Amino acid sequence: MTYDAVVIGAGAAGLMCALTAGYAGRRVLVIDHANKAGKKILMSGGGRCNFTNLGTTPANFFSDNPHFCISALKRYRPEHFVELVERHGLEHVEKAPGQLFCAGSAKDLLAILLTECDWAGVEMSLKTSVTHLERRGEGMRLETSRGRIEAGAVVVATGGLSIPTLGASGFGYDIARQFGLAVTETRPALVPFTLTSQWKARAADLSGLSHEVAVRCRDGAYREPLLFTHRGLSGPAMLQISSHWRPGDSLAVDLLPGEDAYGALVAARRDTPKRRLATWLGERLPRRLAQALVEWHGGDGPLAERSNAELEAWAGHLNDWRLKPAGTEGWRTAEVTMGGVDTRHLSSKTFEVSGLPQLRFIGEVLDVTGELGGYNFQWAWASGVACGQSL
Ligand code: FAD
Repeated sequence: MTYDAVVIGAGAAGLMCALTAGYAGRRVLVIDHANKAGKKILMSGGGRCNFTNLGTTPANFFSDNPHFCISALKRYRPEHFVELVERHGLEHVEKAPGQLFCAGSAKDLLAILLTECDWAGVEMSLKTSVTHLERRGEGMRLETSRGRIEAGAVVVATGGLSIPTLGASGFGYDIARQFGLAVTETRPALVPFTLTSQWKARAADLSGLSHEVAVRCRDGAYREPLLFTHRGLSGPAMLQISSHWRPGDSLAVDLLPGEDAYGALVAARRDTPKRRLATWLGERLPRRLAQALVEWHGGDGPLAERSNAELEAWAGHLNDWRLKPAGTEGWRTAEVTMGGVDTRHLSSKTFEVSGLPQLRFIGEVLDVTGELGGYNFQWAWASGVACGQSL
């Protein structure tokens, strides 16, 4: 069998690349070892897929080569994807500023992509694995579980390592290395934190409670909700900061963002000396959290009985809670992989490998990782389109 292009990976980037190349008149085959296309799309955004972010800029992405993503993101913008899905009548909602989700189910979005692939004449081979890939003159030869395939170009769109049960594999990295490309260090990102036993028990007691915090670690700073879980800490604040966190780092959590706790406590002691600390906390924090803080740190009672040093210590607990996670939940629950195929030897316009234009890499397999909020799908669409147009 001979194709102009074989795309390995029927995820967001692979499907977008395939349909774009198909519409351009290329004969395209998409191969996936899974039994279904787009499994991550289906489970993303809690089943409603946060499919783009209207505010996407290159600053929303991490990479050792930060300029690489600029060209594709500029050429295929969130509005382009919105236009595509609206043509199919997809209803969507803006849950948070710029974050677009399906109003119904992520299934509707996947159906659009599969319909577009169909209209573009893309062929699909699921439950198919690639056992060997080699260069053959101007093209590529693939040995697969369904036989030999010759292709003008091969596009690797096999994603990252997160959620192995959804078909994730290190295949893309192995292919990159086979052809002499470097792979930057990979680690789970947008992932909840686990805690040491004392804090784990405390978090478990508060399981399900969510509260907006400001969190800092290294060069990362976010103001988003923190969610206590029976395993540790999650919610947008923790997922975002996990992309900056390294083992051994502490997080600095401000439970009262925008309020100087020490100043407010001193003023409250002066103005309402009989008020209890727990009451004061309960006016600013969810009741269960306020109670838990008093249990953890002690010292409830009328504010008049609290010394300046005690109020300073409390201000530290509130504005600058230092917490050292034991680790993260790892690949099992991470939304994305930080790091990946080094982009320095790839064209940012066509995604082809320098000196080997018949081999290309797109989507999450690359060392381009977005923040939480629809950016990772926008990267998948944009890199897929840029590559597909040039095949
Ligand atoms: P993938 O979508 O991972 O697709 C890769 C495909 O390659 C898969 O179909 C896989 O089966 C196939 N494959 C892998 N190895 C092989 C192999 N050896 N042979 C053949 N096929 C192979 N991002 C957002 O922007 N918004 C969200 O709401 C969001 N929610 C998420 C929720 C969860 C739980 C997870 C895990 C991720 C979420 N993401 C979200 C991230 C987003 O899903 C990914 O960044 C995006 O799917 C990457 O697209 P991709 O096409 O590069 O890779």
